[in-house]
Amino acid sequence: MDTAIRSAEILSVGTELLLGEIIDTNSSYLAADLASRGVDVYWSQRVGDNRKRIVHAVKQALERSDLLVMTGGLGPTDDDMTREAIAESLGETPTLDPKLEQDLRERFAKLSRSMPEKNLKQAWLIPSAQSLANPRGTAPGWLVTTRTNGKTRFIVTLPGPPRELTRMWELEALPRLPLATSALFTQSFKTFGWGESQIAEKLGALTLESNPSVATYAKRDGVHVRVAAKADTADNALLLAKEVVNKVETILEPVTWGQDQDEITALIGRALKTKGLTLATFETSSGGLLSHLLTSVSDAATAYRGGVVAYDMQAQAALDLNKGNDEASALVIAEAAAQRLNADIGLALYEDLTGSSENKTYFLAVAGSGFKASQKLVLNTSLPADWLRERASYAGLFLLWSQLRA
Ligand code: ATP
Ligand code: MG
Repeated sequence: MDTAIRSAEILSVGTELLLGEIIDTNSSYLAADLASRGVDVYWSQRVGDNRKRIVHAVKQALERSDLLVMTGGLGPTDDDMTREAIAESLGETPTLDPKLEQDLRERFAKLSRSMPEKNLKQAWLIPSAQSLANPRGTAPGWLVTTRTNGKTRFIVTLPGPPRELTRMWELEALPRLPLATSALFTQSFKTFGWGESQIAEKLGALTLESNPSVATYAKRDGVHVRVAAKADTADNALLLAKEVVNKVETILEPVTWGQDQDEITALIGRALKTKGLTLATFETSSGGLLSHLLTSVSDAATAYRGGVVAYDMQAQAALDLNKGNDEASALVIAEAAAQRLNADIGLALYEDLTGSSENKTYFLAVAGSGFKASQKLVLNTSLPADWLRERASYAGLFLLWSQLRA
């Protein structure tokens, strides 16, 4: 009999989730973890503290998924109904488990607190459930094994608080679950310069396949493209992905700046450190964001001498940089930033304040230590102000990286 778990779904319980009062981080944690283990997650739902609707969701999950992972609703109060709902879905009756009751009473005794009667339901079990220990809280979880439509199904209940949930999932539930052996290979390419639709167009039919799959994600540091392949072993997943990875790599080559965990600030920091170079910045309407990004990573921060934020026109005039609005002036300013702050390289980013209201024009430049590059960047003002600041600042970082990586 094949009981291997190939598909799973997630059910987060709690009215707070539906009201938007808390964010369902438990489901994203579980989804990512299941995906990394090669288990397909086809559904993830949130349901309020309503017994009828929880029962509905549990029954639905048992119809279509090998494993249902539930989070929340294991507390002692009347609105914590996960146990009751599972018992009802399976037509089973909960009974007080003497061992769990003893553990619970001891736990309260240790904290010198008397145990409210309401807590007793945390010591419940149903015939098809075994309990999962929770040393970080009072509520044990359940691992339920049942059969639906002739197939073995599993339900895992986990407590809502993330630090209780992660421990129980990793140390109590996973070792007991017969996950189908499979492996997921992923490789991400991080790009800057082409828009998401432009990239999708270049990737063409590659994005239509499901294994290997190719997906694009627009992020603050550009568009990320992820290739993923699943197979029975890690070697086979790699083999399956290889050809597509090579194709994607070639297509994206002109705009790729990094892969997987790479961060642009970390790459810049490492390059500056290796080359023994220091950096200074000059910026205007980005309001110090460039400086903030460069000081958020230790290697970059070590190489960073500092920066000038001349936010308004008066401040810019006071610095007497005699700025014209073109790339040549940006280069002069980048050089001046390096000189005045005693750094090897200067990076300048300023906005053309004489521009139109539809577009914002920025001038960017890198100068010093043999480096020389400049760029004119035009962004549409319909974007929110903080996006504009971010885009412009990242463009500055990428201009710098284009020089350092060479
Ligand atoms: P407790 O015993 O603390 O009541 P519980 O298992 O009954 O735990 P809930 O009452 O549903 O869980 O949630 C308790 C707390 O756990 C929430 O207030 C919230 O801080 C956190 N939490 C619950 N569900 C989630 C979720 N899906 N994602 C992130 N945090 C959650
Ligand atoms: Mg609760």
